[in-house]
Amino acid sequence: MSISFEIDERVAAIARRTTEFVRDVVIPEEQTCGGGDVHAGPEPLRRRLQEAARAAGVFAPHVGEEFGGLGLDLRDQAVVFEAAGRSLLGPLALNCAAPDEGNMHLLEVVATQEQKERYLRPLAAGEVRSCFAMTEPAPGAGSDPRALATTATRTDGGWRIDGRKWFISGADGAAFAICMARTSGAPGDAGGATMFLVDADTPGLKTVRNIDTLDHGLFGGHSEVVFEGCEVPDTAVLGAVDEGFRYAQVRLGPARMTHCMRWLGVARRAQDIALERAAERSAFGGRLAELGMVQQLLADSEIDIETSRAVLWRACWELDQGRSAAQHTSIAKTYVSEAVNRVVDRAVQVCGALGISGDTPLSRLYREVRPFRIYDGPSETHRWAIAKRAVRAAAEQRDAR
Ligand SMILES: Cc1cc2nc3c(=O)[nH]c(=O)nc-3n(C[C@H](O)[C@H](O)[C@H](O)COP(=O)(O)OP(=O)(O)OC[C@H]3O[C@@H](n4cnc5c(N)ncnc54)[C@H](O)[C@@H]3O)c2cc1C
Repeated sequence: MSISFEIDERVAAIARRTTEFVRDVVIPEEQTCGGGDVHAGPEPLRRRLQEAARAAGVFAPHVGEEFGGLGLDLRDQAVVFEAAGRSLLGPLALNCAAPDEGNMHLLEVVATQEQKERYLRPLAAGEVRSCFAMTEPAPGAGSDPRALATTATRTDGGWRIDGRKWFISGADGAAFAICMARTSGAPGDAGGATMFLVDADTPGLKTVRNIDTLDHGLFGGHSEVVFEGCEVPDTAVLGAVDEGFRYAQVRLGPARMTHCMRWLGVARRAQDIALERAAERSAFGGRLAELGMVQQLLADSEIDIETSRAVLWRACWELDQGRSAAQHTSIAKTYVSEAVNRVVDRAVQVCGALGISGDTPLSRLYREVRPFRIYDGPSETHRWAIAKRAVRAAAEQRDAR
């Protein structure tokens, strides 16, 4: 199948509706929450936005039609999520924000029919929220998942989970967690992790604190949670025992790309604010937009946005073809997360003092984009993996000669 940059009519129409919805309904709501500060998890706002998205025909674009979504593939999601991402509240409204969106994908691919009815259906409908619990405080799992220290040990008819997780987005107020726990081997081993569906009210699962962070745009914030003698039945196993690391890749490949899509919307908005300011602000007898160095800032951001979209769409296309696409998703995640930071930073610079004030959304966006260079794999971890794959591919080519 050839790669095409055409956007089909149905997707273009959904993207258009999303753009209008974000402009007319979502952006005005930013006033009610400091530009998109939703760490406290304001439920009435989430409900209001999601109801409006449903009415506008743009709700859950990524979810299969069987579960009430629009059934878009990743390449098509890229168009719609970017439009939604123009506001920090847009993905929340469309029910395609992290971590729920990644969890929905994982459940669609891995869960049993019974688990889908119990967990995916209400999640896709926006009735409940969820979280994904993998990262642990040192010396546990972070960039290196093999350090996974949380354990799940066999009980009569189920499992007992013990461990501590942190930076678990959306945990506060989530109805359930997807928890990664070690079911064989020891920290440092590559294998032996299993995913568990843990209801929030399961005895032994506790949120111990909500972490104070630079960003405030993710609904419910980021929490530290403890599993202490947390017993779950066999039916809580998501997929197969000891296959958790493989499923993590099923979730993470696309989830990295959907983060890129949403943040690209933020970059476009920041650049549009800079363009407007450069066109209207006069200095030294002309407009800022006529000054060469400002033009360079603006041009570099256009280049960053366009190249980001190209590597992102390529990686999405690879995933849609059913390929592993690990190299493409690593390249896209690294490039887009850094490009988005550059674009927002330049927009602040073009706007001068206005850019760091609360009079435009830029200062909020500046805070929000920084963590993206860390989660879903820090840039350095991806570069390390990209180089290793490149070296291996070169060696294979040499051997084949
Ligand atoms: C806002 C936010 C939300 C998050 N949400 C979730 C969530 O919902 N669920 C969840 O499970 N986790 C979540 N995380 C955690 C996130 O996945 C981890 O922060 C990430 O995997 C990095 O792990 P770490 O923080 O332990 O960093 P470490 O593993 O301690 O790495 C620290 C630094 O070491 C360097 N480094 C690491 N590996 C290499 C390498 N191979 N080569 C060279 N340098 C390297 C990098 O500079 C890296 O930033 C979130 C994090 C943030 C910031």
